[in-house]
Amino acid sequence: MLAFEFHSPEQEIIFPLYKQNNIRVFVKRDDLIHPYISGNKWRKLKHPVNQAKKLAKQTLVTFGGAWSNHLLATAAAGAAFNFKTIGFVRGEEVDNPILKLCQIFGMELIFVSRETYKNKRLLFDENFALDPQAFYIDEGGYSEQGALGCKDVIGELTRTYDQIYCAGGTGTTLAGLQMGIQENKLESMLIGVPVLKGGNFLLEEIEKLGIQTRSLPKLLLDYHFGGYAKTTPELISFVKNFTRQTGILVEPTYTGKLFYALHDQILQGQIKPHSTVLALHTGGLTGILGLLDKF
Ligand SMILES: *Cc1c(COP(=O)(O)O)cnc(C)c1O
Repeated sequence: MLAFEFHSPEQEIIFPLYKQNNIRVFVKRDDLIHPYISGNKWRKLKHPVNQAKKLAKQTLVTFGGAWSNHLLATAAAGAAFNFKTIGFVRGEEVDNPILKLCQIFGMELIFVSRETYKNKRLLFDENFALDPQAFYIDEGGYSEQGALGCKDVIGELTRTYDQIYCAGGTGTTLAGLQMGIQENKLESMLIGVPVLKGGNFLLEEIEKLGIQTRSLPKLLLDYHFGGYAKTTPELISFVKNFTRQTGILVEPTYTGKLFYALHDQILQGQIKPHSTVLALHTGGLTGILGLLDKF
């Protein structure tokens, strides 16, 4: 049974580049939280799942693309906590290992056109207006409650860090981390690596989450490698080398871009010697499975 309170370990990464630059890098292994409810997806689901239980809801309804980590996390969390799960999948019907896993965990998949998918709230209302047992969870776990769950990362830390690096998709995780840094009165600078093109929109999303933060994370906008789930041979080779040399599996969609950015910032002398840096390993399985043919 999945525990609601699991503190993932912080582990130092030994890597020649870090040592040469007198920088210590630690990784918080949220990828170890659960094999399928991986990383920040559990952090984001924790409060909604808890609330759904309290409200005696029976069905979790959520949304995602065909390679969504969040769909799989919801399917697995639903199975662990005795909910029926329904996933609306964007685009025409396809089959892939992630959707298969969703079904193995008992999720019912409903494929909808990209047009219909655009208004998720309407889709939910149209299908579940007469079902008081259904509980809405947004795509990617984007929500204020999701951010609250991510805040816990900061409270769990056992050291202080000069900088904290984290990948950004919807910005929910970054919003939670920023809130945690503020609440715990830490000096750490939060650095976000958007995995999409034009990642500046994340700042608005973080503000929209209603999070009371005095400061917003600093975003590094140039590590998207062409856009969401886009890769280059350079990124693939980085992912391979990093994984081989550290024993920590990263993938090209999120954490590969994150660690690439961190390496590149060190190479460019953007991180002061004697700094201690934390990178949050947000988990993620689909990025590696979806891009295996690129390796
Ligand atoms: C979903 C996901 C993210 C993005 O998190 P947001 O809170 O949406 O910014 C980052 N890393 C991994 C591995 C993910 O699966």
